[in-house]
Amino acid sequence: MVRRRFGKGTSMRPHRIVNYTSVLQLLGEKGCPVCAFLKNYQAALLQEPLKKDVNHLCNFHTWGLAATQNPIIAAELFLTLLSHPAETVATSSCDICLLLHLEEERRIRELISCLEQRLAVSWIRAQGVLCIVHGLKVKSGSSPASAVLVESALKRQRERLTQELTQLLEQYDPNPVKWGTLGRVAEYLAAQRGLQP
Ligand SMILES: [Zn+2]
Ligand SMILES: [Zn+2]
Repeated sequence: MVRRRFGKGTSMRPHRIVNYTSVLQLLGEKGCPVCAFLKNYQAALLQEPLKKDVNHLCNFHTWGLAATQNPIIAAELFLTLLSHPAETVATSSCDICLLLHLEEERRIRELISCLEQRLAVSWIRAQGVLCIVHGLKVKSGSSPASAVLVESALKRQRERLTQELTQLLEQYDPNPVKWGTLGRVAEYLAAQRGLQP
């Protein structure tokens, strides 16, 4: 089969995928590093051929694939799904959600072991942000000392977002850029879009 690359001149530009190898590479980002790692991994799953059999995709990932920047990958995967009996498609669990879940467990374990090291400790003390979903998972696997640090990072972020939202409501400004806080609150409350079933 001939594969072609979608370059300039098409509206479907690839989401830039970075080959991160560690969640530590994302500690400098604004939001939760586990979310950022998984978001990139999810984009790769939707744009590159899956290295496993696919039986079912959830609503979110079916539509994510339909909107992907790599229509050839999407079409090939949809052909596989169309070839399965309807019952298989309806009863299996989502293969992309499953891969994300396995990767999430791996990255949570990585972060837990890193919290015993100086670099991650100074990150979480100073400005570390974790969403509630990943924060609680990291906390439950951490030593008591690290759990306290995670707890106070979660509290600090909750207070910061509460303050930002309150200010936005007080000084209502229709400029949508100012309301970027809403996205950060959504990530804090529920992890980034599509990362949790
Ligand atoms: Zn997260
Ligand atoms: Zn899914």
